[in-house]
Amino acid sequence: NREWHLLSRPVGWPRPEDFALAEADVPTPGEGQVLVRNKYLSVDPYMRGRMSAAKSYIAPFELGKVMQGGAVGEVVASNAEGIAVGDHVLHFLGWREFAAVDAKNAVKVDPDTAPLSTYLGVLGMTGLTAYAGLLRTASFKEGDSVFVSGAAGAVGGQVGQIARLKGASRVIGSAGSDEKVKLLVEEYGFDAAFNYKSGPVAEQLREAAPDGVDVYFDNVGGDHLEAAIGQLNVHGRIAICGMISVYNNTEPAPGPKNLARLIQTRGRIEGLLVGDHYDLQPQFVQEVGPWVASGELKYRETVVEGIENNLEAFLGVLRGDNTGKMIVKL
Ligand code: NDP
Repeated sequence: NREWHLLSRPVGWPRPEDFALAEADVPTPGEGQVLVRNKYLSVDPYMRGRMSAAKSYIAPFELGKVMQGGAVGEVVASNAEGIAVGDHVLHFLGWREFAAVDAKNAVKVDPDTAPLSTYLGVLGMTGLTAYAGLLRTASFKEGDSVFVSGAAGAVGGQVGQIARLKGASRVIGSAGSDEKVKLLVEEYGFDAAFNYKSGPVAEQLREAAPDGVDVYFDNVGGDHLEAAIGQLNVHGRIAICGMISVYNNTEPAPGPKNLARLIQTRGRIEGLLVGDHYDLQPQFVQEVGPWVASGELKYRETVVEGIENNLEAFLGVLRGDNTGKMIVKL
């Protein structure tokens, strides 16, 4: 049983020396627990936050201990009622091969309904983030023009497509390569997209959204947020989902300089935390599940194989190696 430990808290970009792949005994499940052999592990940008000691909505990873994260695996031993050997469960003890999981923290998932990895992505946490953030936080309504950054990633790709399927007047996305931009327009059905590395974001957004944006779904922060405020329409809404461009900063990033535009537009900026919106999970699966099954909503996964590559996969998310959800397959 191999598991990833955090050895030291990264300053700036995480370095391989901050982590170790350690050997551990296969745990023995206690009363009310199941032993799970993990099959798919999630790596997510928020994990960078848990590597720091700073106080947040979730406790920091402990030094010298195994890290945590979303995972799906097969139950190989059970001391819990209602979960049997052979069942598959979604749980939170990733970054390891085997986990003893409290049954109350395990959700049964069905590999015949959808591929197991999708419970970490398009039908899982990142999917719900897109759905709740767009519909609830940003109060999306039919006819809105929507701009999303990180648009070729797990959350962003789904935000744009849900907006399109729900009648957005225009969907605009930004991403970090021409190939990703092509995917947005040609496969995901975005009306316009641009590569934020090819020129100033504000200029490119003005061109892509000449009539302004009603909703900006922010995954990136920085220049993107400032540009979106600049293009915001009257009663525009900005959902702050993530700020990946600053996660490795050692100094607080400067804020947008054009906040006075919120007076002109009566605009609203609101943060979003997916954990507040699990009440929407059934509605989300009911509405989005059929779009995924029919192919009306497309998704990509970037799959990295092997527990030994778990850390590289995580660093890859921060670098933009992924298109769609980054998954580690064991
Ligand atoms: P993604 O699949 O979108 O992967 C992250 C992507 O960010 C990379 O692929 C990369 O794509 C892009 N990126 C990296 N650095 C930069 C940069 N400096 N500027 C612009 N883009 C950059 O991850 P997720 O879909 O899982 O998460 C997307 C965002 O949503 C993150 O900010 C995350 O923290 C946040 N989030 C928030 C949640 C909440 O509850 N608030 C829940 C889940 C996610 P590219 O090639 O385009 O640069």
